[in-house]
Amino acid sequence: MQIVSYIIYLIASILFIFGIKKLGSPKTARQGNMLSSIGMLLAVVITLFDHMIITYEWIIAGLIIGSLIGSLMALKVQMTGMPQMVGLLNGFGGGASAVVALGEFFKVDTPNFEINIIITIVLSVLIGAVTFTGSFIAFGKLQGIVTGKVVKYPLQNTINVLLFVVVLAAGVFLIVDQTQIELLLGIVAVSLLLGVLLVLPIGGADMPVAVSLLNSYSGIAASMTGFVISNNMLIIAGALVGASGIILTLIMCRGMNRSLMNVVLGGWESAGAGGAAAGGGEQKPHKSIDSEELAMLFDSASSVVIVPGYGMAVAQAQHAIRDLANILESKGIKVRFAIHPVAGRMPGHMNVLLAEAQVSYDKLYALEDINDDFPNTDVVFVVGANDVVNPAARHDQASPIYGMPILNVDYSKTVIVNKRSMNVGYAGIDNELFYLDNTLMYFGDAKDAISKLVNEIKEL
Ligand code: NDP
Repeated sequence: MQIVSYIIYLIASILFIFGIKKLGSPKTARQGNMLSSIGMLLAVVITLFDHMIITYEWIIAGLIIGSLIGSLMALKVQMTGMPQMVGLLNGFGGGASAVVALGEFFKVDTPNFEINIIITIVLSVLIGAVTFTGSFIAFGKLQGIVTGKVVKYPLQNTINVLLFVVVLAAGVFLIVDQTQIELLLGIVAVSLLLGVLLVLPIGGADMPVAVSLLNSYSGIAASMTGFVISNNMLIIAGALVGASGIILTLIMCRGMNRSLMNVVLGGWESAGAGGAAAGGGEQKPHKSIDSEELAMLFDSASSVVIVPGYGMAVAQAQHAIRDLANILESKGIKVRFAIHPVAGRMPGHMNVLLAEAQVSYDKLYALEDINDDFPNTDVVFVVGANDVVNPAARHDQASPIYGMPILNVDYSKTVIVNKRSMNVGYAGIDNELFYLDNTLMYFGDAKDAISKLVNEIKEL
């Protein structure tokens, strides 16, 4: 039986590895999801046959309650609430790893684990507990329950380093003398506190990066727990989550041209501020256009690039955008989508929404594949995007987004920007694109404004 379970765990691990590889491209992502799900199903089924399981009643009760809560949450959550849901689930993952490691420790009357096992118990408890409370704070910030502001207080980093040293010292003492159970309880308490203190300083709008980092932590905690319970599959699966989480975190930071340290230490205070642009509230001159004029402008174009941003997600305008693309294509106009790596509020945010609206992925172009084409484009239609098209990133060294790669939409012949007002985006800064000669503002909620535009084009 043990050999069979080893082989099945190995197959499950291979399925995870191929699954995650296939998730790398929209073309194969569904297949990747399917492979990973089959791997997880195999792993769960074989684990249920484990000879160590004493009672199935608790497992079945947990399965039913967990499935019910999980399904309800997944059905109820809005697309814009996805980051906090992912954050919460990471927290449960970290918490579960810590609890399993604690369970292994308390299972025996007189703990006398091999050195490698006790080390992984300590690490699993430490990382799992930090992930647990850290994720809850991240959830609270995104949900508006905890302040979204950058929280700073005197000696903040010193206190954090000190607490970390205390946990490590307690861990070393526990490894030397495993009978000192109170040390392990102390590690749990301080780690829970550390999770709160580490995430609290991070600004609310930087939370997606923090959530991705916590996701990586939850994987590392799971991997450590895999060592504790001698489960190779858990070690591999945890390592995959840990590695992919950290890669994603770094990709997000690079997309914003910021260091991980800058995010983690709460560096970007204006982030997520929303509201009007700074500058005393005076309005600079800008030109606007109505749906009728815009319909005529589109009608005379031969190439159009649509740039979606966070506002498209808020307005759930992806279906209206698809209708717009279809009607323009039916008139022989070339339509493409330019996707910035950090458009929206989570990686792949735009791709997921456009895929949901059945926009073919071969029409989606990454920043590096389309940026040189803007000078040859007649009309660029920016829908609810702001920071990712702000030319200040190219030349204004004082700007918080200076150096962030942007979509060079201002190089095209005409730029239409659809948003509700002149308000700022995530970085909290004004956008000089709105005031350029070749830019026209098309105000309104993206979904309503685009539906209106589609009707106008139909009437031409
Ligand atoms: P921004 O946040 O810069 O701007 C979004 C714009 O959408 C706002 O200016 C807003 O203007 C407009 N908007 C809001 N609601 C609507 C609506 N209903 N209809 C039309 N427009 C609307 O978004 P971008 O996508 O350009 O940039 C993403 C930002 O998020 C970047 O700064 C990035 O660094 C950051 N970020 C991204 C992450 C990711 O993984 N994708 C993670 C963390 C941060 P108005 O109020 O006037 O309508």
